[in-house]
Amino acid sequence: MIDLTDEQRLLLQTVRRLAQEKIAPRAAEVDATDQFPWDWVDLFRQQGLLQMMVPAEYGGGGIESVTTLCLITEELARHSLAAASIFASTPLTSVQLLKKVGTPEQKTRYFPQLSTGEKLSAIALTEPGAGSDAASLQARARREGDHYILNGRKCFCTMGDVADFITIFAKTDPTKGVNGITAFFLETKGTPGFSIGKHENKMGLRGIPNVELILEEVPVPAENRLGQEGEGFKVVMKFFDTARAIVGAKALGLAQGALDCALAYAQERVQFGRPIAELQAIQFMLADMATEIEAARGLVYNTMARIDRGEKEVSKYSAMAKYYASDVAMKVTTDAVQILGGYGYMKDYPVERMMRDAKLTQIYDGTNQIQRIVVARSLLKGGSRLRQTN
Ligand SMILES: Cc1cc2nc3c(=O)[nH]c(=O)nc-3n(C[C@H](O)[C@H](O)[C@H](O)COP(=O)(O)OP(=O)(O)OC[C@H]3O[C@@H](n4cnc5c(N)ncnc54)[C@H](O)[C@@H]3O)c2cc1C
Repeated sequence: MIDLTDEQRLLLQTVRRLAQEKIAPRAAEVDATDQFPWDWVDLFRQQGLLQMMVPAEYGGGGIESVTTLCLITEELARHSLAAASIFASTPLTSVQLLKKVGTPEQKTRYFPQLSTGEKLSAIALTEPGAGSDAASLQARARREGDHYILNGRKCFCTMGDVADFITIFAKTDPTKGVNGITAFFLETKGTPGFSIGKHENKMGLRGIPNVELILEEVPVPAENRLGQEGEGFKVVMKFFDTARAIVGAKALGLAQGALDCALAYAQERVQFGRPIAELQAIQFMLADMATEIEAARGLVYNTMARIDRGEKEVSKYSAMAKYYASDVAMKVTTDAVQILGGYGYMKDYPVERMMRDAKLTQIYDGTNQIQRIVVARSLLKGGSRLRQTN
């Protein structure tokens, strides 16, 4: 579907082998125990994956291509959404945001730390009262000399309790609504007033912590502000443009993993004296699953190519990729469970985990309802063609 460079082909071969040998055999255990897999962090770090997008001049892998990030994410999600999430978190949050809005000083200070692959990152926008309506967030930041003092609560933060760096959004001017939000790059270790609250017990993405962050008079140096005061929402939108397409890649991987499993099972499972794969009812389901995955893949890869080309108006495409691929993942994983029948409902096969994980891709980084709003608004902003030609 896309022409891979030699570098991408080699990297993907390595990741595919890694995923088959090290991720797939432990994916069910990570899901069952809900324990953060530090061994996967070590594995990805040793392979240079966590640091691959840090610029080369700071000691990182120097990879710029978001398409490469997407392809690896998809490959890992084929076996485990948790693995794909660990891999993608730092490149998507700290590395991307520092590249896009970091000052030269911030890059000099943080890229070398990120280049070892030892520092994990997260992002905290959502609050108990501010989900889809992120602009209504209540966290506050007030300037005191050369610091900002942060107060508030964030919820659902993915990897919040294992992250060394968290990009946090707070209002510096509550009277200005969306234009009063500012982004801060918080160092979590040893920062007074910062603590972890509730650990969520989730349906899927198990093994990856989702936690409440408590901010009580947390001092953040003014030089750790990302972008200007009041530009926080712009920073979030830059994040979402890539992050939503990456959710599309995670969804693709989940769907492909479920199809792989259903296809193999259908050829082995014998009922009425022949493999169920010979039944037209099953064949049609498999055909639809494969076709929908391919359509979603086209949309996700196309969006990645747009991001890599530096196109300005990618929000619409990221939203399309996110909601279409995640809706496909939900349908395909559900159909995979159906093809496996009663065994699909059991934890002996990965499809029930994939179905639970797929549900999340329809919800986080903006629900699929919100994505449809983004697409519709973008269409309507273009105005009516009829009117334009008259
Ligand atoms: C496992 C997990 C991990 C997460 N990780 C992070 C993270 O790392 N960092 C972070 O900041 N956040 C994170 N989130 C938060 C996530 O992005 C939000 O849950 C999501 O944006 C939805 O917000 P909400 O849960 O408050 O739902 P609500 O906004 O309360 O929405 C409830 C329902 O109403 C619908 N709805 C709301 N407004 C509209 C509208 N205008 N039009 C139509 N329908 C609408 C929604 O689509 C949804 O169906 C995570 C969430 C989960 C579940």
